[in-house]
Amino acid sequence: MQWPEAGKLIIKFNHCQKCVYSFGLPRRCPLCGQDVGSRRLEEAPVSISEPFTDGHREKCSFLLRPTRGTFLREYDGRSDLHVGITNTSGVVYNYTVHGVQRDKVGWEQSVSVPLLRPGLFGLLDQWDKYLEDFSATGAWLPHRYEEDHHNCYSYALAFINCVLATEGEEQLDRDEFTEKFVVPRTRKASKYITLYRAIEERGFYVTDPPSPQTGPRPGSGLC
Ligand SMILES: [Zn+2]
Repeated sequence: MQWPEAGKLIIKFNHCQKCVYSFGLPRRCPLCGQDVGSRRLEEAPVSISEPFTDGHREKCSFLLRPTRGTFLREYDGRSDLHVGITNTSGVVYNYTVHGVQRDKVGWEQSVSVPLLRPGLFGLLDQWDKYLEDFSATGAWLPHRYEEDHHNCYSYALAFINCVLATEGEEQLDRDEFTEKFVVPRTRKASKYITLYRAIEERGFYVTDPPSPQTGPRPGSGLC
């Protein structure tokens, strides 16, 4: 099994009245060649947090990753995504044409949505049993798999609804779930990937700082 390459840390700093992004802080500004020194505290470089996590370290979460390849390498915004649910030890349960898989590796670069909101923490003790019992039902036998209508998504959403029902909470339909949980995260991931690849290609990426009207503070120079 090939492990996905860990992403490099993206740093953002201000120079030449621009926001400059690069992998690590360069000694010299790629625009003017001057030393990059922080004269003011608010100009200190900041790291951009990666939208991916190691899914095997996430308890009781919904995970997404590209069906083939990884987000940073292969994802193009339209690639097929595969989804799964983690138990309390980071084993990823996911439904495929071969039935329910219990993956201990392969989800190291995932987008994760925690499913245990405050108030549902009482479920933690029973989570693994719920997930195992749910996965053992006939609905998820290999021959029931259908690429469009009875797939990894159906499995994950049905499980989430099972949990919600146990807690007397309202059910989610597929569109609601996608809008609420999936789209905001894949959108954030796509933006990050675009930035990442641009830096990889050119060594750095530049944007204009926000205008004083929309910036955090007039004249602060923060991006
Ligand atoms: Zn410069």
